[in-house]
Amino acid sequence: MSRRPFIAGNWKLHKTVAEARELIHELRRELVDVDVEVAVAPPMTALDAVRQALEGSSIHLAAQNTYHESTGAYTGEVSPLLLADVGCRYCIVGHSERRSLFGETDAGVHAKAAALLDHGLSPIVCVGERLEEREAGRALEVVLGQIEAALEGLALEEVVVAYEPVWAIGTGRTASPQDAQEVHEAIRTHLAATHGPVAQRVRILYGGSVKPANAAELLAQPDIDGALVGGASLQAATFAPIVKSAS
Ligand code: PEP
Repeated sequence: MSRRPFIAGNWKLHKTVAEARELIHELRRELVDVDVEVAVAPPMTALDAVRQALEGSSIHLAAQNTYHESTGAYTGEVSPLLLADVGCRYCIVGHSERRSLFGETDAGVHAKAAALLDHGLSPIVCVGERLEEREAGRALEVVLGQIEAALEGLALEEVVVAYEPVWAIGTGRTASPQDAQEVHEAIRTHLAATHGPVAQRVRILYGGSVKPANAAELLAQPDIDGALVGGASLQAATFAPIVKSAS
């Protein structure tokens, strides 16, 4: 089953509007004729400027977070309805930083993923174990539990999964390609059991200190269909080679 490689950049809390425009201009120069799907997730304040800077390009716009309601008295929140309005195609949900710093729960991740699908956006659903869970031999149990809770009852056609071991995010430590492949394969097997043959079409990205130096080996694994890239997505000089190594 062939799945189109997908590389997404999570800019987190970085980039003013001017810096965001500049990075998009550099990426457009670097990424011509790559047969890889690419998305960038700027901070909310730069979404509209990045949408404009991406006009006529095949790079997709993504958001880093959303709320499950569409409209209403929810001060400070942004909904899938509004993300679609500003041109987003994807939205990250369940990132470990949101889980650990902002109290995001599995139930919240499920509600957000469902709301995104209702509005025609694809959720990039992040899952991953903490270091103490891996060391206790519980990595698969934790990750599959998060998958089960986030995706139960949802149609998977438009869903992207990102396996991001928490201990590898922003730390410079990367899972070995073999360890990552083991988890990706387990996720796909689990999705096949719960959702059927569509599991073969679901793209499962790896995230956690992906860099130009380690991308090719990770992306060569049979169940690693792309990458969710944090730090290395902030500069064209590091993001573009990762994209190219997926093509
Ligand atoms: C991320 O934020 O999703 C991530 C994987 O970050 P980094 O690449 O910096 O580890």
